[in-house]
Amino acid sequence: MRKSVSAMAAALLACVASQAIAAERPNRQAERDLFAKIVEIPTVEGRTAEFKKLTALLTAEFRKAGITNVVVKDHDGTQTLIARWSAAKPSGKKPILLMAHMDVVEAKDSDWKNPPFKFREEGGWYLGRGANDNKAGLTGILIALQYLKAEGFQPTRDLIVLFTGDEETTGNGARRAATEWRSLIDAEYGLNSDAGGGSVYKDGRPELFAMQIAEKTYADFKLTATNRGGHSSAPRQDNAIYALSNALSALEAHRFPPMINDATRAGFSLLAEKDGGQYGELIKRYLADPTDRETADLVEANDPGSTRTRCVATMLSGGHAPNALPQKAEANVNCRIFPGVKVEEVRQQLQALAGPDVAVAAVEGSQTPETAPTPIRQDVLDAYKAAVATRFKGAPVVPYQSAGATDGAFLRANGIPVYGFGGLWGIVGEREGAHGLDERVYADGFHDQIPIWMDMLKRVAG
Ligand SMILES: [Zn+2]
Repeated sequence: MRKSVSAMAAALLACVASQAIAAERPNRQAERDLFAKIVEIPTVEGRTAEFKKLTALLTAEFRKAGITNVVVKDHDGTQTLIARWSAAKPSGKKPILLMAHMDVVEAKDSDWKNPPFKFREEGGWYLGRGANDNKAGLTGILIALQYLKAEGFQPTRDLIVLFTGDEETTGNGARRAATEWRSLIDAEYGLNSDAGGGSVYKDGRPELFAMQIAEKTYADFKLTATNRGGHSSAPRQDNAIYALSNALSALEAHRFPPMINDATRAGFSLLAEKDGGQYGELIKRYLADPTDRETADLVEANDPGSTRTRCVATMLSGGHAPNALPQKAEANVNCRIFPGVKVEEVRQQLQALAGPDVAVAAVEGSQTPETAPTPIRQDVLDAYKAAVATRFKGAPVVPYQSAGATDGAFLRANGIPVYGFGGLWGIVGEREGAHGLDERVYADGFHDQIPIWMDMLKRVAG
């Protein structure tokens, strides 16, 4: 009897609890519907008409909310959307830029379990190409601004939205925004939803939220060995394929000098604090002397790319006939260059490794801008922590450095500081499939980002 009563009480409690959660998010269905519409527009490189559909939808959504200053730029086969919510009570402070990208990586029906551009919900996840990268963040910014407008929020500085259409490819939108359209987007700093956000354990405890402040520079190099060739029945010591393979072997053995900055130090410090085991000890040793090569090499083996510039051979071709000495052999070497190191310095080091028989040249157009880390601003970091704490009390917010590049690089290179920010969260250890198959975003994490964005904007622009 008693047992059944308590079971019933538990059932009642569960019912009350789920009602309370539902009451908290009355617009969950509407938020999901808008997100679905945005995901289902296949804004892949080259499909200009799809970008037009998306910018038309977004423009209508901004206008509906009362944000009527919306500019759509046609450029480079894509579009960039810039919207401005002017300060209601101007404080004289420069605007804040809210960033996301509209384009997504190509996805083929035949590769995916389900059609990539058909929005689906499954097991608490929202699925579709771009759901994670970066349409969740984009939709989060849009809905947060709509709600802030609706509840009568009066910003004390302009809020500018920058949604680009080619982040995954050329970055032309961000580059043009930072230069030729500068007057439309000039801001004290940017908050980039493409590079922030959190990870939460399955039991609901937050692991951390990330604030991106630095990005490695991307650059490709071509290694070319040329030779006069000849008949393969009469081999000589000089041989283009051997020359190239010796150069690649030298590269394989080479380790660039270890480096550290505010972004990587912050991440490693948190690791050292949390890991009470051997790895934690190693990290502590590394932090005590980041220039110690032996320790840094061990860290690097565990966390590739985090302690230095890395270059790796990614493509190879050579020779012209099975029975001829090769006249040419070529390799592509891809480098992810630590902030503060120039692309040309890396080329010179590669040339020294390759020796005189192999020419090393930077691949034109391959590189992203060389940028220094954005200095950590305590006010932005504190606001981020406080905004996240409205949902996850005491969650750490940790500065970090991306191994890849985002639109943020183009702004940083042109003097606008950028912080990766987001209230969006995923589950620790769960695959999200950005750029890959069956891309998805955790539904609760998607909805939670909206109040976190709202709280953040009230703090920095209220
Ligand atoms: Zn992205």
